Amino acid sequence: MEKILVSRCLLGHKVRYDGAGSGPFDQLAAWQAEGRVVAICPEVAGGLPTPRPAAEIPGGQGLDVWEGRARVLTADGEDFSEAFLDGARQALALVQQHNIRIAILKANSPSCGNLLTYDGTFSGVKVSGEGVTAALLKRHGVHVFSELELPQAAQALNNL
Ligand code: SF4
Repeated sequence: MEKILVSRCLLGHKVRYDGAGSGPFDQLAAWQAEGRVVAICPEVAGGLPTPRPAAEIPGGQGLDVWEGRARVLTADGEDFSEAFLDGARQALALVQQHNIRIAILKANSPSCGNLLTYDGTFSGVKVSGEGVTAALLKRHGVHVFSELELPQAAQALNNL
């Protein structure tokens, strides 16, 4: 059975930077009941506590962090880059372990965002781009969707 990688916060786990979770999402619950879901919070897996300061990627996107052109920083300038990279590597390890081809990652996150992230000014402005984990998984052939695209993800699963 095809497994699906899912951001832990979308399963209601209280791992978000603000100590909250998200959801519930009926489609994710259905996939959990089928035994398809492999869950990870890359930031917590990378060693960050919950709650934790919000972080953004000033002047770049996830791929720029991988290629050393940008860092993941808090508003106070604390550098979370290594934790973000480590968590993303753990997500990729799960993908490879379970031969995963579809991921549902939380929209807009500097780790998990697949289409948009924040612009690095901590003012709530979103820009096109992807987080550190989403960037890595996409470049390893994973189809990355967000919780806003669950019908498309279900269609992609059917088409595998
Ligand atoms: S968006 Fe990703 S990194 Fe952030 S809390 Fe959810 S699973 Fe963790």
